[in-house]
Amino acid sequence: MRMPDPDTDVIARRARIARDLRRLVPDGSSNSPVGEGVIVDEDELRAYECDGLTAYRQPPLVVVLPSTTEQVSKVLRYCHDHGVKIVPRGAGTSLSGGALPLADAVTLGLGKFNRILDIDYDNRCVVAQPGVTNLGITQAVQARGFYYAPDPSSQIACSIGGNVAENAGGVHCLKYGLTTNNLLGLEMVLMTGEVVRLGGRHLDPGDLDLMGVVTGSEGLLGVITEVTVRILRGPETARAVLMGFPDTTAAADTVAAIIAQGIIPAGLEMMDRPAIHAAEDFVHADYPLDVEALLICELDGPEAEVDHLIERVAAIAHDNRVVSLRASADDAERALFWAGRKAAFPAVGRISPDYLCMDGSIPRQALPRVLQRMTEMSRRYGLRVANVFHAGDGNLHPLILFDANVSDELERAEAFGADILRLCVAVGGVLTGEHGVGVEKRDLMYTMFTETDMAHQQRLKCAFDPGQFLNPGKVFPTLHRCAELGRMRVSGGAVPFPDIPRF
Ligand SMILES: Cc1cc2nc3c(=O)[nH]c(=O)nc-3n(C[C@H](O)[C@H](O)[C@H](O)COP(=O)(O)OP(=O)(O)OC[C@H]3O[C@@H](n4cnc5c(N)ncnc54)[C@H](O)[C@@H]3O)c2cc1C
Repeated sequence: MRMPDPDTDVIARRARIARDLRRLVPDGSSNSPVGEGVIVDEDELRAYECDGLTAYRQPPLVVVLPSTTEQVSKVLRYCHDHGVKIVPRGAGTSLSGGALPLADAVTLGLGKFNRILDIDYDNRCVVAQPGVTNLGITQAVQARGFYYAPDPSSQIACSIGGNVAENAGGVHCLKYGLTTNNLLGLEMVLMTGEVVRLGGRHLDPGDLDLMGVVTGSEGLLGVITEVTVRILRGPETARAVLMGFPDTTAAADTVAAIIAQGIIPAGLEMMDRPAIHAAEDFVHADYPLDVEALLICELDGPEAEVDHLIERVAAIAHDNRVVSLRASADDAERALFWAGRKAAFPAVGRISPDYLCMDGSIPRQALPRVLQRMTEMSRRYGLRVANVFHAGDGNLHPLILFDANVSDELERAEAFGADILRLCVAVGGVLTGEHGVGVEKRDLMYTMFTETDMAHQQRLKCAFDPGQFLNPGKVFPTLHRCAELGRMRVSGGAVPFPDIPRF
């Protein structure tokens, strides 16, 4: 993995930078009386050396843990003025290496931003600091019958700020939308230290949709310091149906038929045989073990409607060779059905020393073809693959199993993963459904985008961060200076890069 060459001058100034930052973010504070503000100790830095993509590790220059927007603003301003890069970090669960540190960059941890600031039931929204966990938002409102809909499987740990930065999804996003569809407002600190507010508590802000631009921007445009999200009232009833199939084609056909008939389930997930067995061994969800594919379909709404939809889904499944079908009788059983799916990643972690979790999206009708091709690739690469995915929205999560201690297995796994993502694009899909580009998919961006597309996206980056201080080496496969992209800053009357043609 090639990263930008570290700036040796910044590394040489490390002690000075840490001392200056400690003045801006002292240990403890009125908001967060416990804990360090700046971490420099080598052993302590190790805790931050990777995110959920553990194959890549790099201790950061220093870690800074601010607890107020003012501190974030001062840190960014300082780093801007002293040529120091910043890697924002939420809970560090990214599977694409978005929070991977750089040797010459400050990792800015938002863990101390962990308070719910307001619960506004009248306007059905919650204002939270970015370090609040995804599940923490639902837990804050569930006593009054509300919840926050996007529910990544990592929801117990991942932060709402990280969810915005990755436009995170989850089981319930098929019906209720991704993070971007549930976000109302943001506060963000720009690299210059300026603080901007986007959106609010209302549905339709009148300005340019900058919130749409920032959602999914992977820490490249600014540091999010406050988030306002919509909350929903919990449905009157929710039931899940567990359906086992003799092959993945039958399951995929069932998915396509359910959606084609105008039914939008609250969740529609698929697991293949290896994933079913791993999850069942781990969670004991009573999954059928004699099937090749399992669908979990959740239907919610008024009781009569849910009962009717379950009958229709069952009829569709019978038309598509279902071999076992069980509808949850109560909430405990519904939770059990989901427990296996939600724990599928760690469950697979028990059957293989390492795995790479891929995240491509495809049009639903391509599912059988793509699954078939993946089986062929698995044979060719000599590596097992377990499939767990959001079948309803065509978002695949093939888990490629490997052992990093066996020579060349990581390289083979990565090549296999890249082939899967190329296949997703070839059938009309996209490189990432919800985990982001980070470093993992960075070098595949040209599989999907043209030079013009990429230059256009980079110009947007330059509008927010012309010095390219925020999270460099992520998302963009080539580093252009902003001047090369048609934007330039004239400093002291001297035009930078005078030999480059302007337009
Ligand atoms: C077991 C497991 C299951 C998962 N399941 C899902 C799933 O179902 N759906 C899904 O979408 N994802 C899933 N993920 C991936 C991950 O949890 C999400 O991408 C999540 O949104 C990352 O949040 P985080 O707080 O951990 O962010 P981090 O990993 O800390 O950072 C992720 C990116 O966001 C940026 N960032 C973080 N905070 C801020 C901020 N305040 N301001 C600006 N930029 C910021 C970082 O620079 C980085 O680029 C899973 C991960 C694991 C380990």
